[in-house]
Amino acid sequence: MTIVEPLNPRERLLMGPGPSTVPQRILRAMGASTLGHLDPQYIGYMDETCQMLRDVFQTDNALTFPVSGTGMAGMETIIVNLVEPGDEVIVCINGVFGGRMKDNMERAGATVHTLEVPWGETFSQQAIADVIARHPAAKLLGIVHAETSTGALQDLSGIGAMVHEAGMLLAVDTVTSLGGHEVKVDDWGIDAIYSGTQKCLSCPPGLSPVSFSARAIEKMEARQTKVQSWYLDVSMLKNYYTGGGGRAYHHTAPINMVYALREALAIVLEEGLEARFARHREMHLLLREGLENLGLKYIPTESLCTLNCVSVPEGIDEAAIRSRLLDEYDIEIGGGLGVFAGKAWRIGLMGHNANRRSVGTLLAALKDCLG
Ligand SMILES: *Cc1c(COP(=O)(O)O)cnc(C)c1O
Repeated sequence: MTIVEPLNPRERLLMGPGPSTVPQRILRAMGASTLGHLDPQYIGYMDETCQMLRDVFQTDNALTFPVSGTGMAGMETIIVNLVEPGDEVIVCINGVFGGRMKDNMERAGATVHTLEVPWGETFSQQAIADVIARHPAAKLLGIVHAETSTGALQDLSGIGAMVHEAGMLLAVDTVTSLGGHEVKVDDWGIDAIYSGTQKCLSCPPGLSPVSFSARAIEKMEARQTKVQSWYLDVSMLKNYYTGGGGRAYHHTAPINMVYALREALAIVLEEGLEARFARHREMHLLLREGLENLGLKYIPTESLCTLNCVSVPEGIDEAAIRSRLLDEYDIEIGGGLGVFAGKAWRIGLMGHNANRRSVGTLLAALKDCLG
C-alpha cells in the first residue's frame, strides 16, 4: 500500500503575471458533478458560457468559445486556422508575446514581416499605417493588447479600420486584458481574438476564450489546405460549440473547467464591465503611488492596470526579494521576462486581486523586504 500525503497547497496571494488568486466561489463551481460532454444539461451550461464570453468580449460573433488549453492554445488556434502556408502576415513585437506570435506564424508557414519597437513602448497609429503600406500583400496583422512581459497597454482604436482598408484581418492577444481592461471586439474591428482564464478572469488556467468575426470565417472557409492541427481545427470544433451541423463529438470538453469559467464570467457580469475596469484602474493608481513612494519606477510608457512592471533598483537581488515575499508573506510576484530577466518585477492586479487589501498587503511586505 502506498500512502500519499494529502494535497495541501498554501493559500498564496497570487500577484504575479498569472495565475491570479481564484475565489472560492469558482473553485466550488469546479467541484460540481461532472456531466457528459453531450449531456443536454451540460450543453446548456456551455451555451451560457459562450454567451457570457460574447458579453465580455463585447461582440455578437457567433463563433465565440473557450478553446481547451491555456492562452497559448488560443494563440495557436487563431494562427493555425487563419494562416495558410505562403501567406504574408505582419506581427507587431514589443515583448515576449509578440515574439511568440511570430514564431507561431512561421511554424504555420507564413512569411512574417515584423514591426518592432523597444520593449516597454507601444505602437503609434502612424507606425502601423506605415507597416501596412510597406506590405500590402499581407493577409493579417497580429498585435498584443496587453504585453505581459513589459506591462505595456496598446491602444487598439483605429487599427481595425486601417487593417480592413488594406484587406487584412486583425488578430489580437488579450490574455492579460480581458476582464481587467476594456476589450471591444466589434467596435474595434477585431477579427480574431484570444484570451486566457487565469489572468483577469481569476479562474484556474485551462481554457482560452476565442472569437472570430465573419471576415475571419470567410478566410477560414476559403482555405486551400487543411488546418495542420487536428485538435485546434475550428472547422470541426465549431459544430460542437455553436451547434451548427449538430453537437458532434470532436474531443471531450474539459467539463469542470467550463463550470469554472461560467462562474468567473458570472462574477464579471454581476460586477458590470465598466465598474470592473474602473476598479482595476483605481487599484492600479493606488499601487502605483505606493510603489513610486518606495522609489520604484514603472518601465512601460503606457502601463497596464492589470500588470505593473517596475525596474529593480541597482544592487538589489530581485530573486531573493521574490523568495522572501513567497516564503515569509505567501505573496507571489513575477520576475522579469526576456530582456527584463533579472531587471524587473511584474506585479499583477488581476480580477479578484485588484482590491485594497491585496495592494496594501503587498506594499507593506515589499517595504519590509526592501528595508
Ligand atoms: C499569459 C499570456 C499568454 C499565454 O498564456 P498561457 O495561459 O500561459 O498559455 C499569452 N499572451 C499573453 C499576453 C499572456 O500574458
